[in-house]
Amino acid sequence: MTNILNWPDYNVSQVHESKYDYQVYAELKYPPSFCIHCYTSDLVGFGKRTEILMDIPMHGKRVGIHLNRKRFKCQSCNKTFYELVSRKDEKRRMTKRFIEYIERESQKRTFLSIADDIGVDEKIIRNIFQDYCEREEEQLKFEMPKWLGIDEIHIIKKPRCVLTNIEHQTVIDMLNNRNKSTLLRYFTKREDRERVETMIPNATIVIDKFHVVKMANESLERARKAIRSQLTPQQRRGLLKDRFVLLKRKHELSDAEYLRYSGWILNYPEMGEAYELKESFFVIWNSQTRDETQQAYYAWLRLVSPEMTRYFDPLIKAMGNWHNEVFAYFDHPITNAYTESLNNLIRVMNRTGQGYSFEALRAKMLFTEVFQKVKRPLYQRDPIPDDALSVFDMAAEPQIVTNYGSSISTLIKEFERDFKSPISLTKSAYPR
Ligand SMILES: [Zn+2]
Repeated sequence: MTNILNWPDYNVSQVHESKYDYQVYAELKYPPSFCIHCYTSDLVGFGKRTEILMDIPMHGKRVGIHLNRKRFKCQSCNKTFYELVSRKDEKRRMTKRFIEYIERESQKRTFLSIADDIGVDEKIIRNIFQDYCEREEEQLKFEMPKWLGIDEIHIIKKPRCVLTNIEHQTVIDMLNNRNKSTLLRYFTKREDRERVETMIPNATIVIDKFHVVKMANESLERARKAIRSQLTPQQRRGLLKDRFVLLKRKHELSDAEYLRYSGWILNYPEMGEAYELKESFFVIWNSQTRDETQQAYYAWLRLVSPEMTRYFDPLIKAMGNWHNEVFAYFDHPITNAYTESLNNLIRVMNRTGQGYSFEALRAKMLFTEVFQKVKRPLYQRDPIPDDALSVFDMAAEPQIVTNYGSSISTLIKEFERDFKSPISLTKSAYPR
């Protein structure tokens, strides 16, 4: 090793060690050989200043580099300048490798735990990570899917929106929430606007029915809670395991459960009405064609009494907002394999996420190269003529690479592994 910083172009004059920190005193070995303004080499020393740069922790201690940065005056143009330090980050008083370290760590653990370790404010770490995401985002060119899936995944306490390529079974993005406005903002942000506008009509947005029927369960839950809240403690005791029983489909109820349920609805007819609405909403999706399904849905709508509208309103509104996207499900061959793998992803994501921020989880899912499903051009079989082309000319040939996004099955494997051994380091690629 050249010196404690492992930088051959620097001299380290002193190293102080205290309980938590290393203070490293260093300066550049060689003075600049020319003026940064006029490129002549007629330079004289013109003072110096000390800059403190944070660097990667060493032996479990924080590292501050006291950089003795020299100033020069050009005899030719009379201008002055400080020597250039390429190892320093342009924006922050940190080394470039320290920034890279923070970016890497941010993908594995919380901003707060990094902040504790390295003695930098959590806000700064968040900003560094934000910069990293923006940089990666610019480079990321996921192919716009032919069939775009919009689904909901519950991550870190909130429902988020996951955008998928149904054909290739990949995730192309993850949005903070599932509002339509968020989604529209996402599409206008994508690459050049005109292309997006012509692309959207070509991309069919498909919402998996799995997520729609889930909303029927949520409506029933609203009704159940409202009914319960009006009961005396004694009455409530009569509703043993009511949530568990009501969320079941009718054909799944045991005889004992069905008997209990029948008793409840005699006393609380509203509960029965809500349950029947949930059940009949599920049945809609057994229809075979889009037309049948739409008719079944309109028939169902007529069953919803004003009393029940209070509980089923979010579902009815969502059906209104996403009408085409929901019924498009019937026009496209969404395979069972896709639905199954997406449900598995939802399952593993539900229990992962501890220790991550949403942004970090999103970044990990989207920016990790080894997760991505990429179609590379075929191997060029044409022989290289003897007289031509160096290796560099070959590399300059345009290569069309199609990136479909992060493979759902790879993500599932990754998160399952993560869940079993949360401290395992993720093998990620960091393209620089
Ligand atoms: Zn000069």
